[in-house]
Amino acid sequence: MSDYDVIVVGAGLGGLTTAALAAKSGMKTLVLEQSDIIGGCCSTFEVDGYKFDVGASIVEVIQPLERLFEMLGGKISDYLELIPCDPIYSFITDDGQRFSIPTDIDETTELVKRIAPEDVEGWHRFCDKGLSMIEEMMDAVMLSPMNTFSEAMQLGMKNPQILKFAPTFARTHQGVIRSFYKNPVMLQSAAFQSYFAGAPPELGSGVFGYIALSEHLGIYYPRGGMIGIPNGIAKAGMDYGLEIKVNQKVEKLLMENGTAFGVKLENGSEITAKLVVSNLNAQVTYLKLVGPHNLPGWAVKAIASYSNSMPCPMIYVGLDKKPDLEAHHTIVTSSLESMNDVWNNFYKMGIIPETAMSLVCWPTEADPSLAPEGRHILNFLCNAPAPYAPKGDNWDRLKGWYKDAAIKELETYVLPDARDHIEYIQVSTPLDFERRLLHPEGGIYGLFSDMTTLAMFRPRSRSKAVKNLYLTGSSTHLGGGVPTTVASGIVTAKYILKDFG
Ligand SMILES: Cc1cc2nc3c(=O)[nH]c(=O)nc-3n(C[C@H](O)[C@H](O)[C@H](O)COP(=O)(O)OP(=O)(O)OC[C@H]3O[C@@H](n4cnc5c(N)ncnc54)[C@H](O)[C@@H]3O)c2cc1C
Repeated sequence: MSDYDVIVVGAGLGGLTTAALAAKSGMKTLVLEQSDIIGGCCSTFEVDGYKFDVGASIVEVIQPLERLFEMLGGKISDYLELIPCDPIYSFITDDGQRFSIPTDIDETTELVKRIAPEDVEGWHRFCDKGLSMIEEMMDAVMLSPMNTFSEAMQLGMKNPQILKFAPTFARTHQGVIRSFYKNPVMLQSAAFQSYFAGAPPELGSGVFGYIALSEHLGIYYPRGGMIGIPNGIAKAGMDYGLEIKVNQKVEKLLMENGTAFGVKLENGSEITAKLVVSNLNAQVTYLKLVGPHNLPGWAVKAIASYSNSMPCPMIYVGLDKKPDLEAHHTIVTSSLESMNDVWNNFYKMGIIPETAMSLVCWPTEADPSLAPEGRHILNFLCNAPAPYAPKGDNWDRLKGWYKDAAIKELETYVLPDARDHIEYIQVSTPLDFERRLLHPEGGIYGLFSDMTTLAMFRPRSRSKAVKNLYLTGSSTHLGGGVPTTVASGIVTAKYILKDFG
C-alpha cells in the first residue's frame, strides 16, 4: 500500500497544476518543494517590506488558467485577482524612439500609422491571420497531449481547421514577422518576444512570432505579486485535499524494475506513491533522480542530447522615488539583426554583452501594495541573455561589476539619479538562480526550445523509459512560460487520469 497516489516533485506551475487536478479527481496527492516558497520561477519573495518577483513578471494568454480553474470547479477570480496592464510595453528603440503600445488594436493602428506608415497593411494582415490562428489553435494545441506523432495526427484529424496553420510551425520567428513588416522598429517590436521562449528570432518557432499579437488580448499582473498564481492553484487544489510541503528536497526516485514508486528525500526519508510527477528540468529528472543505471541506453542518449535554456541575470531594486516610466514593462530593444548577433557572437561565445536587450518591470505601477508607502519596485533583466560560464571568469566575481553596469543602465533609461534613490538592491546572477531553484546552468526555461525541440521532439509528459513517471513544466511540450507550463500541467493530468482515473 503506497503512502500517496501521486507525489509531485517541485511546486512550479506545471507541478501545482497537475497536483491540483489529480487531487480534484480524488487521488491522494503530495507536492514536495525544495525551496521555502512555492511557484518556482513564478513566485515572489519579500525583503525589507519590498515584494520582488523571482522571474516571471506578467501573464499573457490566460486561457490555460481559465481552463484550469474551470476544471477545478471555479473561475480565476475565485482564487486570484489579475490586474490588466495597459499599455503593453513602453519601447526605447535603438534609434532613440520612445513609444508605448496600447492594448487596443485600433489605437495601435494609429501608432503604426505614425511610426511606420509603410507597415500599416502588414499590421492589418498580422492581426487578421494571427487572431484567427490564436483563437482556433489555443485549446487544440496548448491543451492536447502531443507526446507522439500519432497524437499529433489525431489532433490534426480532430481539428482540421488548424492544419492550415501547420507551416507556421516550420517557419522561424523572424520569418513570420518579416512576412508582415519591413520597418526596423516594427520588426524589433515583434522580434524580442522570441526570447520569451528562450531563443533568438532566427531560431525561435514561427508560432511565437504571434506573441506580439496575443498581447493585445490582454496582459495581466496578479495582485500581491506573481506568487498569486501558484498560490491560487495551490488553494484550489487544497480544497480537494492536496498537501504541499516546502523545504523538502527530493534526492532520488524510488525505482524497481524500471518503475517509479516514490521518492527519497535529502534527509533520508522515503515516501511511496503509485506514480511520481517531476516538475524539474528533464535532464535532472532522468540523469540524477532516476539515474542512468535505471534507464535503457537509448533514453540516456536521448535525454543527454538536449541542452539547457538560457540563463538571465536579474536585478531586484527598491526605490524611494517613482521611476520615470509609463508602463508595467519597458523594453530597451535593439535591431532584429543584433538580437541574433547577441546570441551567436556573445552568449554562445561566453561573452556578456555590454549592450543588449533590457527589460524593466515596474510592478508597483499595477500594485502599489508591493512596496512600503511611497516606494517602488523594479525587477530588471539587464543585457539578456548572458552566458552561464563567462569566458575566463565567473559570476560570483562579476557580481559587483554587473550591479554597477545595471545601475548605469537604469540611470540612462529610467531615472537619471537612480543611484541616490536605491534603498535596496539584489543581483541574481545565473549562479544565484541555479542555487535558488536548482535549475542547471541557471536556465530559466528548463531545456532549450527552438523549432526542432517542440511537441513530440521534447521530453514526454508520460515517460516512455520509466513506468509510472510523468513529467510536467517547461522541459515538456510548449516549453517555458506561465501559460505554457500551466497548459503542460493540464496535459500531464490528462495522461494520469487516462492511465489511473
Ligand atoms: C527571469 C524569468 C522571467 C520570466 N518571465 C516570464 C514572464 O514574464 N511571463 C511568462 O509567461 N513566463 C515567464 N517566465 C517563465 C515562467 O516563469 C516559467 O517558465 C514557469 O514559471 C516555469 O514553471 P515550471 O512548471 O517549469 O516550474 P519551475 O518554475 O521550474 O519550478 C520547479 C520547482 O521545482 C523545485 N525543485 C527543483 N529541484 C527540486 C528537488 N530536487 N526537490 C524538490 N523540489 C525541487 C524548484 O525549487 C522549483 O520551485 C520567466 C522565467 C524567468 C526565470
